[in-house]
Amino acid sequence: MTIKENIVNIQYQLTSKITLVAATKKRTSQEIRQAIAAGITHIGENYVKEALNKNLQGLATLHLIGHLQTNKVKTAVQLFDIIETVDSQKLAKEIDKQCKTINKIMPILIEINSGNEKNKTGIPPEQATKLITIISKLNNIKIQGLMTMAPHNKDPEQSRPYFKATKKIFDEIKSLAINDVEMKTLSMGMSHSYTIAIEEGATQVRLGTAIFGER
Ligand SMILES: *Cc1c(COP(=O)(O)O)cnc(C)c1O
Repeated sequence: MTIKENIVNIQYQLTSKITLVAATKKRTSQEIRQAIAAGITHIGENYVKEALNKNLQGLATLHLIGHLQTNKVKTAVQLFDIIETVDSQKLAKEIDKQCKTINKIMPILIEINSGNEKNKTGIPPEQATKLITIISKLNNIKIQGLMTMAPHNKDPEQSRPYFKATKKIFDEIKSLAINDVEMKTLSMGMSHSYTIAIEEGATQVRLGTAIFGER
């Protein structure tokens, strides 16, 4: 199947309420441009430098979906339209600071380490509300939701509890109605798990393999 056929098939399954982000790490500029020509409007990149080299600005809404190091924030805030992987006060403050200098308000998602896995990025679920409450006071970021990667498992059904848990936090934070916090985006689900993520309340899925084939 071509990239275009894959995208048509996926979009057929998604309702208009679900945002499809093409996860494009290791894909060539040409493949990405084919996806855009086939209707992709959101691109997710994992690495700042790789994204920069692909010259994607202006072609689609650019999401940073990989972990962001503080020393790359300055470049990242110029390049990306949304940063999905904020998981610490330190990172949020640096994004805020760098955005101030370029007069930008950066939409962000908070990355939840829903499996409470060691050595994995994302904030532990029980610390999410506190982090959000604190960083919501920063003027140059705008919290718009949550993102999670469930622990890796071949059987996507095993991801369901983690999606469920993240949706629960999402709803709890929404019900707190914290000032300047908009809980509208729940980014979860990858190629093998996205239908389950959607059943559990995802509003955005991040797909690589399903669009482009194996990496
Ligand atoms: C690579 C990646 C994806 C997409 O993975 P596929 O299994 O290829 O769909 C989604 N989210 C993140 C954060 C990724 O790094």
